Amino acid sequence: MQLIFYTTVSPEEYCRQGKDFPFPEPDYCPHCRIKVPPQKHGFFDRNAITADFSGHILIRRYYCQYCHTTISYLPSFCLPRFQYCVDLIFTGIRLMLEFNFSLRGCLKFLKGRCRQFYWDISHLQFYLRRFLASLKSIMLGLRQILPRVQLPEEMPAKKEGAQKVLRLITTGFAHIQSFSTRFYEALGYAFMAPLPNILA
Ligand SMILES: [Zn+2]
Repeated sequence: MQLIFYTTVSPEEYCRQGKDFPFPEPDYCPHCRIKVPPQKHGFFDRNAITADFSGHILIRRYYCQYCHTTISYLPSFCLPRFQYCVDLIFTGIRLMLEFNFSLRGCLKFLKGRCRQFYWDISHLQFYLRRFLASLKSIMLGLRQILPRVQLPEEMPAKKEGAQKVLRLITTGFAHIQSFSTRFYEALGYAFMAPLPNILA
């Protein structure tokens, strides 16, 4: 199983620290919940790309000898199954939905500000489509994480609904990483994950 842990460390710094990074150390198995610390079980590497960094980072793994589950800890700047970091993806989504940038305008803006940036229009289209398709699931998550949240009752138009949801995320959480981490904790999948069957 994969978990996300919150960190304020940048991808670059996380990468620099390598195996010396203070990874989370579970004192019980998050899967079977037996009160024995899972054993360290090496690392795997994955890509992490953001505005000013692109490289391989190490992901800490543990193994529970009781339920034979491997547990890996993804730092909160990563989204499961995405190479690009969550803040970059979320910035693109905000530029398009909140600040009304066109796809081309958004691409140009980001290219001007990011050292490592190889997106084309299709990346932006993909993230935008995925975010719009996930609105219902994101609202479900917001309701669980922030029980008193005021959600839009009926989604008027897709874009307007998306703007409201975006505002709830940007005002309710200090950083997109904290929203992303808490969403994953509460629902067990990422806010940008393909829709789970129950919501489709
Ligand atoms: Zn276990």
